[in-house]
Amino acid sequence: MTRNPPPARLPARRIRRNRWLLLAVAAAVLTGVLAGVMAIALTVGPQLPTSWLSSKHSSKSSLSAADGVVPEGVTVLDDTYEAVTRLDPALLDALRRAATAAAADGVEFYVNSGWRSPEYQNQLLREAVAAHGSEDEAARWVATAATSPHVSGDAADIGHSDAAQWLAEHGAEHGLCRIYRNEPWHFELRTQAIGHRCPDMYANPTEDPRMRQ
Ligand SMILES: [Zn+2]
Repeated sequence: MTRNPPPARLPARRIRRNRWLLLAVAAAVLTGVLAGVMAIALTVGPQLPTSWLSSKHSSKSSLSAADGVVPEGVTVLDDTYEAVTRLDPALLDALRRAATAAAADGVEFYVNSGWRSPEYQNQLLREAVAAHGSEDEAARWVATAATSPHVSGDAADIGHSDAAQWLAEHGAEHGLCRIYRNEPWHFELRTQAIGHRCPDMYANPTEDPRMRQ
């Protein structure tokens, strides 16, 4: 029969040192994890569509469907929500024709945001300023009530991502074009694109001359 030797006891000072080392390593790992989470949040944060902002905050406000607030699951074929029905008729017609073509590919067009009242647009802008920290940064994502093509009924934010992707590929045939590189969901009518191609995109709304009013 063999016996294991008794475990060697570490001197108390060495144990204390090891404990400090362990704490330091744990702190370093935690800092690294936090930095990673922050980096992801900063990267992902600005990509969130305005519809996310509106659905998150609209419950707290007095805005309603009459302002263009639209619940999830409303398609371009809807004829009850102002967000859809108050779009420019030519834009809505193009969206519905494109949706019919896309349906053959198994793709459905949802309206994440369409026409908006000036009050709704102003609220989105206030939320964007709060979320992005400054008016300059918010301007890259949300226009004012005076400049927004949503308020004039000339823009629709289309989801889900498969629908936006379908429109990016086939929208020009229906005169539907992306306008901003940072908003793959935002479409407007550009009839000159039919039979040709969509105009070059702006990087973001601050490059759009219409926003400088
Ligand atoms: Zn938009």
